[in-house]
Amino acid sequence: MKILSAKYTGNATSLESCPPANKTEYAFIGRSNVGKSSLINSLTNFNGLAKVSTTPGKTRMINFFTINDHFNLVDLPGYGYAKVSRSENKEFNVAAADYLSGREGLKCVFVLIDSRREPQDLDLQFFAWIREFDRNLVLVFTKSDLPSKEKLKTNIEQFQEALRANGLPVPKCVSCSAKSGAGKMAIFEQIQRFLPKQEKAAVKKKKTSSAWLKNIGM
Ligand code: GDP
Repeated sequence: MKILSAKYTGNATSLESCPPANKTEYAFIGRSNVGKSSLINSLTNFNGLAKVSTTPGKTRMINFFTINDHFNLVDLPGYGYAKVSRSENKEFNVAAADYLSGREGLKCVFVLIDSRREPQDLDLQFFAWIREFDRNLVLVFTKSDLPSKEKLKTNIEQFQEALRANGLPVPKCVSCSAKSGAGKMAIFEQIQRFLPKQEKAAVKKKKTSSAWLKNIGM
C-alpha cells in the first residue's frame, strides 16, 4: 500500500464530537508512551503528523488522520498514566468506550504493547476490557528495535501465554519499530485486510497512475 497523502482531519473528546463516520477506520490504542504517535508517523511517513511526546499522558484527545482520502487512522488517548487525575482517566474511559462500542466504520483496533516488557497486569486487564467491544483486534508489540531478538520473541510468547492463562483468545500479533520501520508491512497487511473491496481497488488504481507517471519521468 502506498501512502499518497496523510492529513490531520480533526479531534474529539467524545463519540458525539467525532468527525462524520463516512470512512473505514482503524484505531490505535495503548499505554501512554508505548510509541503510538511514533508508529502513526512511521506508517504514514509524515514526521510530526501525530505528536511524539516526551511527556507521557499528554494526548487526551481522539485524533483523526485521513490517509489517501480513503480511510482514517485514529489515535485514541493513552491509558495508564499515573499522573493523570482520576477524573481525566474516567473521561478517557467513557470517551474510548463510547467510541469503541458506537463508532461506525471502525474495522480494526490495533492494541499496542511495549515489546521490552514482560506481560503487565494493566495491559492484560486492558485487553480483557477491550475485547468486550467485539471488534477485530491486532496486538502490536512496539519498539522492537530495543530488546534483543531472543527477548522480543520471549516477551511476545509470554504475553500470548498470559492471555491464554486468563481465558482470553490470542489475536493476530505483529511486532514493529517506528525507528527502523520493521513490521510496517505487517500492519499495512492488516489494514488492507479490512478495507472494503471498492476502496482496495481505488488504492490500486492510484498506484497504477503513479507508476505511469514514473514511466514518463515524473
Ligand atoms: P505515545 O505516548 O504512545 O504516543 O508514545 P510516543 O510515540 O510519543 O513515544 C514515546 C517515546 O518512545 C519517545 O521518546 C519515542 O521516541 C520513543 N519511541 C517510540 N517508538 C519507538 C521505537 O520504535 N523505537 C525506539 N527506539 N523508540 C521509540
